Amino acid sequence: MSLIVQKYGGSSLASPEHFKMIAKHVVETHEEGNQVVVVVSAMGNTTNELIKLAGEITPNPPRREMDMLLSVGERKSIALLAMAIDALGCEAISFTGSQIGIITDNEHTQARILEVKALRIPEALKAGKIVIVAGFQGVSINKEITTLGRGGTDATAVALAAALKAEKCQIMKDVDGVFTADPKVIPNVKLNSELSYDDMLQMSELGAGVINQYAVEIAKHYHVKLAVGNSFTKKIGTIITDRSLDTAKISGIVLNDKVMALKFNKSDEKNLWTAQKTIEKNRWKVYNSYLSSTSFWVVIDNEIAHEIKAMIDNNAWKPLPEKFENIVLLSIVGSGLNYNSPPVKKILHIFEKWDDDILSLQASMQKISVILKKKKNIKQLVKSLYKQVEKEGM
Ligand code: ASP
Ligand code: MG
Repeated sequence: MSLIVQKYGGSSLASPEHFKMIAKHVVETHEEGNQVVVVVSAMGNTTNELIKLAGEITPNPPRREMDMLLSVGERKSIALLAMAIDALGCEAISFTGSQIGIITDNEHTQARILEVKALRIPEALKAGKIVIVAGFQGVSINKEITTLGRGGTDATAVALAAALKAEKCQIMKDVDGVFTADPKVIPNVKLNSELSYDDMLQMSELGAGVINQYAVEIAKHYHVKLAVGNSFTKKIGTIITDRSLDTAKISGIVLNDKVMALKFNKSDEKNLWTAQKTIEKNRWKVYNSYLSSTSFWVVIDNEIAHEIKAMIDNNAWKPLPEKFENIVLLSIVGSGLNYNSPPVKKILHIFEKWDDDILSLQASMQKISVILKKKKNIKQLVKSLYKQVEKEGM
């Protein structure tokens, strides 16, 4: 009998009908003779709504109370899914993160998992039950409820798969797998049938929303076999494993438009390190950072714009960094991207026409990453890049 961990995201759990359908899939997996642990996110837009609600009370809610509030979303989901499975005549039991001993550090809203005790799960599985776990949350060593940062349910699923030595961890979404570009921008875009942890890590790091970055880090560390598939059709489109290809290949074009950038002048070294320390201390999500001979760029999440504004208003950095709010981070992720090879040169030439809008460009063997001014026609650039990649057979 194999043990499978399945994760369902918020858009797969948007309504009671969604729960009934997912319950059927879960029961089918169970009836195929597997032990099943299901990890779920909050329904649909719940987490965003809770964040908005807190914002209507105060612009600066205490992080501890944010965790108390946000963890509720996933708790709703586990109960509803357990009910839906029960209604199909199958036994299920729901648990919160703290009930099963997901132990984290004390960093509220951005906690990191220190230990997964997986309490109560083996007994429940042995009794033939389907186990349902609330994603995204844990309990800190100070015995407080914590959350793992946006998209953290993936991390719960992967960490549980590692702790339970599951055969695989299936990340079920509203798309078939990991595409080579955004299917909303490129119609008929190719699916990556196989990816290495490193490729996936790069893509997540740069802001491809498919899998949470922390989850990929855990998967890589513990060699958890990841499969990404469609919640609605059960199709598994992408497998992520240790294997890496050595030919030049593009695994994805990632357009991240939910970012802002700070540019620190390098004339003052001290200023740089203060900036770095602030980023570390606050666990800000950095999508990209780039140190040139004259400046230090960091690309961070738009969501912390108000924190940045407060720091600038308080003169927290001297001299203050330049702030760029209307930007995008466009990256081409792959392997063997030799700067001097003809295909890579051709890709770089495409950027030439956009020269006036480019704030910075970095190229390495694993990625080409560009910070650009936000423009209405940016999707045209993605299309041109994709076309070129296809033409080169990468
Ligand atoms: N509900 C949380 C979020 O929206 C966690 C997750 O979905 O993975 O960020
Ligand atoms: Mg969510």
